[in-house]
Amino acid sequence: MFKKILIANRGEIAVRIIRACREMDIMSVAICSEADKDALHAQLADQTVCIGPAPAKDSYLDMERVLGAAMAVGADAIHPGFGFLSENSKFVRMCEKCNITFIGPSAEIIDRMGNKSAARKTMMDAGVPVVPGTKDAVYEAEEGQKIADDMGYPVMIKASAGGGGKGMRVCYNSEDFVHTFETAKLEAENAFGDGTMYIEKYIEDPRHIEFQILADKYGNTIHLGERDCSIQRRHQKLIEESPSPAISDEQRKKMGEIAVKAAKAAEYYSAGTIEFLRDKHGDFYFIEMNTRIQVEHPVTEWVTGIDLIREQIRIAAGEHLTYSQEDVHVHGHAIEVRINAEDTEHDFRPSPGTVTNVHFPGGKGVRIDSALFAGYKIPPYYDSMIAKLIVYDKNRELALRKLRNALGELVLEGVKTNIDYQYEIINDEDFIEGNVDTGFIERFQKKHQ
Ligand code: ADP
Repeated sequence: MFKKILIANRGEIAVRIIRACREMDIMSVAICSEADKDALHAQLADQTVCIGPAPAKDSYLDMERVLGAAMAVGADAIHPGFGFLSENSKFVRMCEKCNITFIGPSAEIIDRMGNKSAARKTMMDAGVPVVPGTKDAVYEAEEGQKIADDMGYPVMIKASAGGGGKGMRVCYNSEDFVHTFETAKLEAENAFGDGTMYIEKYIEDPRHIEFQILADKYGNTIHLGERDCSIQRRHQKLIEESPSPAISDEQRKKMGEIAVKAAKAAEYYSAGTIEFLRDKHGDFYFIEMNTRIQVEHPVTEWVTGIDLIREQIRIAAGEHLTYSQEDVHVHGHAIEVRINAEDTEHDFRPSPGTVTNVHFPGGKGVRIDSALFAGYKIPPYYDSMIAKLIVYDKNRELALRKLRNALGELVLEGVKTNIDYQYEIINDEDFIEGNVDTGFIERFQKKHQ
């Protein structure tokens, strides 16, 4: 097992990983930017290295600095968390060269799945259902327009390098195609430095259902059930739950088997996620694979009892999976709500600043993953997600009751947050009924205007 892990991240996920290291008797090393010297992750780790100025490109995204810190402290592994360098195959190759284990899949696997149009191809070849659309990448607007005309509208124009909902646009007719394509392409070029696009049929109001995969380096691959992440704003998840209220045991089994088949086709190891869209008829289609731990991993941990970060570390160290598919049982119901420091009344713009007062809810079945404390100054440079509230109970109805109480108890003062907004969502009739799809938030916003 590793002796020392450097955590190449910040915020709640860094804290989550530090805790896992401590439980496993592994030394933890935090890195921080100059803006994060007082941050919780920097205070909690066994060792902390300040690696550079506040902007992420000069610190958390600077591969040389991150690796330099790892070498200096003698870390034998790096956990990338999510975001930042977590899906960067160049970084993984650099780690290999420095003899440091990257806690995640290999660079080849990341390349295979990280390019979304290439991943579609791999999945099509493996017989996994994908959203109808192009098999190859599309470079020119006119070329794409012809394809979309044949396919029929509406279509989704997406960036091969896409992530976080960026570089993605719906197009409803041929007249708008060229303009929409160019807008999405420009956004992709700016965000990812890559304007390669692909086209999918637009699925009307689907549910986003994703399967958690765990696989070791010896070909043992299992799934840990699904998460329903249909509550999204601008293609970004807000609330996630497991199990999905929309899926029968029979469909869970079928989708799970296909998710495992997809992971095997990618020759995947580590923790990963196979994402599907499920349409109104119950048909489902692969959209992408995430080759990292996800924000919403706690809901799966709760219903399966499996610690995903611990498993990720064990797999990276070359250990075998200790669970077979038959050992995995989903019990009860878990729901996660993302708490963001943002101004919901002004286009959800980030609201950094000093947190003057915090009160976290607690009790049986309530989990908070956060890096907050009273007096903490949320810097303006990074993601606005500052905490996750996760609840668990025997069934969805009880979990919802718990969520209402817990979210009602949560106090965060000094900055604007989406707590009240989330409270309204979880009290919405359709949400309570589990009658949701990815169009929920748009309808919800209209209702509340
Ligand atoms: P990203 O990598 O940016 O997160 P995804 O491909 O995972 O992008 O898609 C994010 C979300 O966008 C999905 O959960 C879904 O809500 C929406 N979406 C993506 N592709 C389609 C599609 N073909 N039809 C309808 N909605 C889509």
